[in-house]
Amino acid sequence: MHADVIVIGAGMAGASVAALLAERRRVLLLEAEERVGYHATGRSAALFSEIYGNRSIRALTRGSRDFLRAPPEGFTDVPLIRPRASLFIATDRQLETLNGFAALPDVAPATRALSASEALALCPVLREDCLAAALLEPDSADLDVNALHQGYLRWFRARGGDLRAASPVLGLSRGAGGWRVRTGAEEHAAPVIVNAAGAWADELAGLAGVAPLGLTPLRRTAALVDPPAGVAVDAWPMVIDIAEAFYFKPDAGRLLISPADETPAAPGDAQPEDWDVALAVERIESATTLRIDRLRHRWAGLRTFAADRSPVVGFCAGAPGFFWLAGQGGYGIQTAPAMARAAAALIRGEPLPEDLRALGLAAADVSPARF
Ligand SMILES: Cc1cc2nc3c(=O)[nH]c(=O)nc-3n(C[C@H](O)[C@H](O)[C@H](O)COP(=O)(O)OP(=O)(O)OC[C@H]3O[C@@H](n4cnc5c(N)ncnc54)[C@H](O)[C@@H]3O)c2cc1C
Repeated sequence: MHADVIVIGAGMAGASVAALLAERRRVLLLEAEERVGYHATGRSAALFSEIYGNRSIRALTRGSRDFLRAPPEGFTDVPLIRPRASLFIATDRQLETLNGFAALPDVAPATRALSASEALALCPVLREDCLAAALLEPDSADLDVNALHQGYLRWFRARGGDLRAASPVLGLSRGAGGWRVRTGAEEHAAPVIVNAAGAWADELAGLAGVAPLGLTPLRRTAALVDPPAGVAVDAWPMVIDIAEAFYFKPDAGRLLISPADETPAAPGDAQPEDWDVALAVERIESATTLRIDRLRHRWAGLRTFAADRSPVVGFCAGAPGFFWLAGQGGYGIQTAPAMARAAAALIRGEPLPEDLRALGLAAADVSPARF
């Protein structure tokens, strides 16, 4: 097939940019797995927080807020976000970290300092002797990841886009007519290819003879556990240790727990390790009165980071038509609407959208040329 753009990887990154580009171009979206969303996209904690991540991430998250709160007509039948406050907690030894974070210019207006007793009123299982102070982000939210992903894929198909699952890209070469993309028995061609291959982004670049950027997949573990008998947890905030050594949040009547681990791992089908699950249980039991006897479900996924923990969005200078959309780290869902707009604009040869520039994002902050 001859396309204008071939997007490789149909997770949140690939699906969202493919949907936007399909409005005006012939787009082919290739996914290695039979089921889209099988890797990082289907394994997230589904948090939307405007104060999570570095400055570029925070700008991209804010630039996604309006879309997530009020998606365009016909995008989805269900809300993409539902209110869920976030509570950042600190022991007395962590007070300096909490205060430093609270003082950041874009964190301060989005948060409110709470005393230990105010925090306890919101989440009564916190242990008083481990809690010196807390910071509340009232406007964070739970995301409906599947609704967002499926909404983009529906847009993509309605705009004439061609999605091929079970189509791993095995070869990439560039000739006079642009890129040739080989998937098993098939070969496709396009002047522009988008590398949205998540944990495999550096490996995919290698197929194209493009130098890797040193992207590192970091494994993160999560589990679902029962709340204490007779206790309704739905109204609790998400609770995050200020050093990010653990977090827990209500999830459909249960609690999602994580040790917030970041273990370097090879690209692949990440699986939870017993050690990491035990670490989550131990850290959460130390900071709360919760006793976790039984895990209902556990999983792990790869959060893939560039060295400066900002995403990589832009054309590769040495390989015309090779576009990076990678390194979304732990924020690729909450930033997807803005990141897709930024990527689509750069692919069309336009500047970054004005609203994202007004939020402080510059193309250089996310360009692959910074490495
Ligand atoms: C435990 C956990 C908690 C998280 N919590 C949050 C959160 O609360 N909020 C948030 O915003 N983010 C969160 N994230 C991060 C978020 O899930 C990721 O940033 C996001 O899903 C990345 O999307 P992606 O499309 O880049 O990657 P992926 O979803 O991994 O998609 C990449 C796709 O590329 C395909 N691919 C790879 N190589 C090839 C090839 N050669 N040919 C064809 N296809 C290929 C893969 O099969 C895969 O489907 C979390 C992640 C984890 C693991």
